[in-house]
Amino acid sequence: MKDIDGKTALVTGAGSGIGRASARRFAEEGANVVVADVVEETGRETVELIEDAGGDATFVEVDVSEFASVERMVDVAVETYGTLDFAHNNAGILTGFTETTDITEEQWDRLLDINLKGIWACMRAELPVMEAQGSGAIVNTASEAGLVGMGGLSSYSASKHGVVGLTKSVALEYAGRGVRVNAIAPGPTKTNIQSSFLGSDDSSLLSRLKTALELVRMAIRTMRADFDTSAMRDVPMGRIAEAEEMAGVVAFLCSSDASYITGHTLPVDGGQAAD
Ligand code: NAD
Repeated sequence: MKDIDGKTALVTGAGSGIGRASARRFAEEGANVVVADVVEETGRETVELIEDAGGDATFVEVDVSEFASVERMVDVAVETYGTLDFAHNNAGILTGFTETTDITEEQWDRLLDINLKGIWACMRAELPVMEAQGSGAIVNTASEAGLVGMGGLSSYSASKHGVVGLTKSVALEYAGRGVRVNAIAPGPTKTNIQSSFLGSDDSSLLSRLKTALELVRMAIRTMRADFDTSAMRDVPMGRIAEAEEMAGVVAFLCSSDASYITGHTLPVDGGQAAD
């Protein structure tokens, strides 16, 4: 990838899944990486993985739903590496499949605070640094659920549609100021996000059971797809993505190969958006 080597990349939610893959990919491309996550243990594991492979990484504990915490994260990035060239604002949560009328105000606020306010908070802290240095590229993690509705996931889908709109609007504000802003919309990807919502305290037992059932259905559809791709209607390519397949696209969008791309949400979904 062009022009990532020697730069500084910040990745939120980098202790797991897509964020970890993205952090490792930035390091492979030669960037210094700020690994940010609310869970210290897994974040430090990502740093170790990068260092074991010969890269340079620093862990910062952050809760993206708290603006003061996000400001501190960006300060640490700049203090440690002197610049902030790329940001992958990726941290997010998914709660169980829940009817809209069963979502509590507390569940709604928590999900929107992390998935949508968190992306705004990150950009609010990152943009002045990038503007001051005259260049920067931001990639936000949206979702296929940010492009189409998903029954049972209305709060998640609303948060991710919000990320898509926020990405477009901020890209327009900064198009003439040296900062590009894009998003990816992953389709189903092998990560820990399922276990995070299965284990969440505020999920009702019924919600957890519905979620477990949906996961079993998804697994069955995937297994069938090995024999007959058309059986897995959800993903035309007939398989779930690897996190590394998201990371490559994030690196591309940050690289100067994507120098004329801003304001877009790129589906990385095995063909789902085309169906
Ligand atoms: P994951 O659970 O494996 O990783 C999410 C990471 O975010 C975890 O390390 C977690 O500790 C961190 N995190 C959670 N809340 C945080 C907070 N408040 N502050 C900082 N960090 C926090 O899940 P993943 O699948 O890698 O998810 C990454 C992103 O991808 C999310 O935004 C998710 O909505 C999106 N996404 C995932 C899929 C999928 O199928 N896995 C599909 C579409 C979109």
